[in-house]
Amino acid sequence: MFSTGRRALLRLAPLAALPVVLAGCAAGSSAADDDTVAVLASFYPLQFVAEQVGGDRVTVDSLTPPGAEPHDVELSPAQVSRVDRADLVVYLSGFQAAVDDAVAQTAPEHVVDAADVEDLLTLEQEGTESHADEVDEHGHEEGGALDPHFWLDPSRMPAFVDAVAAELSAVDPEGADDYAANAEALNARFEDLDQRYQDGLATCESRTFVTSHEAFGYLAHRYDLHQVGISGLDPDAEPSPKRLAAVEDIVREEGVTTIFFEQLVSPKVARTLAADLGIDAAVLDPIEGVTGDADYFSIADDNLAALRVALSCS
Ligand SMILES: [Zn+2]
Repeated sequence: MFSTGRRALLRLAPLAALPVVLAGCAAGSSAADDDTVAVLASFYPLQFVAEQVGGDRVTVDSLTPPGAEPHDVELSPAQVSRVDRADLVVYLSGFQAAVDDAVAQTAPEHVVDAADVEDLLTLEQEGTESHADEVDEHGHEEGGALDPHFWLDPSRMPAFVDAVAAELSAVDPEGADDYAANAEALNARFEDLDQRYQDGLATCESRTFVTSHEAFGYLAHRYDLHQVGISGLDPDAEPSPKRLAAVEDIVREEGVTTIFFEQLVSPKVARTLAADLGIDAAVLDPIEGVTGDADYFSIADDNLAALRVALSCS
């Protein structure tokens, strides 16, 4: 009994020290230093949406460090406690096991799980070249596993944007009009981007693209392309000789001009394969993290340009 009471006291002490003015703020339980709503996103595209929808009223942090590969993120006890203290947690269940565990453990009051909003597809349904003989340590390619990468299809983003706006409004009702307006503006940008992809990929000499990271199933599904994946996500995992031979056959049969790789994991396999086949290697970014001035839209436009070159689109 003593220890329970002591723990409660320790938990209360920092709150008692806060300035009284905080009691009147929009989000009384805010973990941010100011009176903004503290949003904790699990990785970049979700963070980007929360920032755009929340605007000045929110402070958004990400559990995945900038520029880091989010698939195998691990959380420190301090990060788990940030999940507990956030006013709103935005994540994608089934994508990052450590985040799923932290959410289950802390049971935050306000959560947006993108998997509740998006009708996620399995790899087989996406026109993805599946290769069940290869074991992927990151849960990507197990038979029938859901593909997490919905954000690479811009037409899927508005449903998620609206869910974030609705939950922010539940946390901070005074900001509801702002959140709705920001969501509408952001959704217009996603709709524009979707139209640019539709137009830009409508007429191409090839519709098959080869990529090291099989992240582009939703993109392929939306724009009637065919993704051929070389290996799983683990930068240290070498694809089997059998898989490499199969990809080489597809490259020759379909006249593939480019092997795509991503910046957050080693391009070694993709570069070696491209060199062996005498074709190009180029970046196709799964938008799982950003560096420098890049953001979701700038990377998506870079990806479209890269696909148009590789597929000889007119
Ligand atoms: Zn991925």
